[in-house]
Amino acid sequence: PALAIQGTPIFTELANDTTGDDSSSLLDNVFWMAAPKNRRTIEVNRCRRRNSQKLVKVKNNIDVCPQCGHLKQKHVLCGYCYEKVQQETKEVRKQIWKQEGGPFKAPPLETVVLYTGETPSEQDQDKRIVERDRKRPSWFTQN
Ligand SMILES: [Zn+2]
Repeated sequence: PALAIQGTPIFTELANDTTGDDSSSLLDNVFWMAAPKNRRTIEVNRCRRRNSQKLVKVKNNIDVCPQCGHLKQKHVLCGYCYEKVQQETKEVRKQIWKQEGGPFKAPPLETVVLYTGETPSEQDQDKRIVERDRKRPSWFTQN
């Protein structure tokens, strides 16, 4: 009953403010529209709240990335490793830009990326060679 008594002054004030207006009845209706007619029991509420559709699913497909050891989802690329590859690809692209001065002078050849301490093999001689001044990352295999 305390809540009901506390709640009433708001509505009476509003009703007093709008007395005489045509919109008073409409305002009242809008206010009472959201009020529930019957109380729902705690059992019913719990059934609704703990409904299996609303619960957070437990993920059993978490795995450790074999490359870096970060946790990742199975059959999904490791976000950490992906970022590393992205960074290196960006650097390689920058190097190519430096060598050729733009994307329009790219020769129609296969590209070979060489890191420090590596020399092009015989079959790579004619290909486009991009040299990077750092050690080869472990995940970037040399073909
Ligand atoms: Zn990883």
